Amino acid sequence: MTKLSPGVVTGDEYIALIAAAKAGGYAFPAVNVTSTNTLNAVLEAAATAKSDVIIQLSNGGAQFYAGQGMPDGFRAKVLGAVAAARHAHLLAKEYGICVAMHTDHANKELIPWVEAMLDEGEKYYQANGKPLFSSHMLDLSAEPIDFNLSESARLLERMAGLGMSLEIELGVTGGEEDGVGSDLDASADNSRLYTQPEDVLQAYDRLTPIGHFSVAASFGNVHGVYKPGNVKLRPEILKNSQDLVERQHHTGKNPLNLVFHGGSGSEKAQISEAVSYGVFKMNIDTDTQFAFSQAIGKFVDANHRAFEYQIDPDDGTPYKKLYDPRKLLREAEKGVVTRLQEAFDDLGSKGKSIAG
Ligand SMILES: [Zn+2]
Repeated sequence: MTKLSPGVVTGDEYIALIAAAKAGGYAFPAVNVTSTNTLNAVLEAAATAKSDVIIQLSNGGAQFYAGQGMPDGFRAKVLGAVAAARHAHLLAKEYGICVAMHTDHANKELIPWVEAMLDEGEKYYQANGKPLFSSHMLDLSAEPIDFNLSESARLLERMAGLGMSLEIELGVTGGEEDGVGSDLDASADNSRLYTQPEDVLQAYDRLTPIGHFSVAASFGNVHGVYKPGNVKLRPEILKNSQDLVERQHHTGKNPLNLVFHGGSGSEKAQISEAVSYGVFKMNIDTDTQFAFSQAIGKFVDANHRAFEYQIDPDDGTPYKKLYDPRKLLREAEKGVVTRLQEAFDDLGSKGKSIAG
């Protein structure tokens, strides 16, 4: 069995990580992070589960990582992503698991963000002989497919030169992720919410000769968590795309590397079904956001006087040990670690790390 050195995996190692997951019938949570606290919590969670993991930043998450107060917001989006990736390159190997570093949705307006990250990635490559990120996402699903695929091809060419992978999106994921997304009504019968297998075949034909890529396909998935019954997942859409490419190109089973967006709040049976159709990555953000904030809420509730007074005016109790920010941030980290154990279980990746 393939073993990889622990730490950030890129290029052929990332391809091997995906192949191991598809062959083993499991997938990785791709967790959105916004800070060292959330990033370290994901590393700890993966180490606890003995699972490999994908860590990603949205443009807003990257900006927050650099500091919401940084005067040049665009630079913050670029340098925050770079800072998070460099943080992971330095520390991930200490946790003994493999980590892929990725950036999330970039729509048409955010193409310059991806290009600026590639400028930084090229500098990093020249200095270190490997890419800074394992992959970037380019989400041009709201544009005509010709534009989507020609821009994807143009950027994949540049990424392939660095040994990077590209995630594209076909069809529209409902809801929104950090201001990128659509407000299509998921309960309506809207064909745009379901990726067309012919579009996937076209992407496969166009991109396969250029480099490694994955496809975020829409099968009724929605960003965020909604009341049960509002989201009708149809994982068989994924199977139809796999079958079409397999027939046309006489490939093995599940030739496409598929990504499941809007994984938070999904039913476990449908997660398993999607994984059986070649989904290797399921994005999770909303559920870990809640786990982080809920833990802080509980801590503040239980110790509310420490958040009103440095020293209790009634009995003189000093509260320094409780209002030290590490106390509540550690509770938040533990909340994320606990919630992610469930995700590793759902996706079948627990105990399957190929780091060694
Ligand atoms: Zn998404």
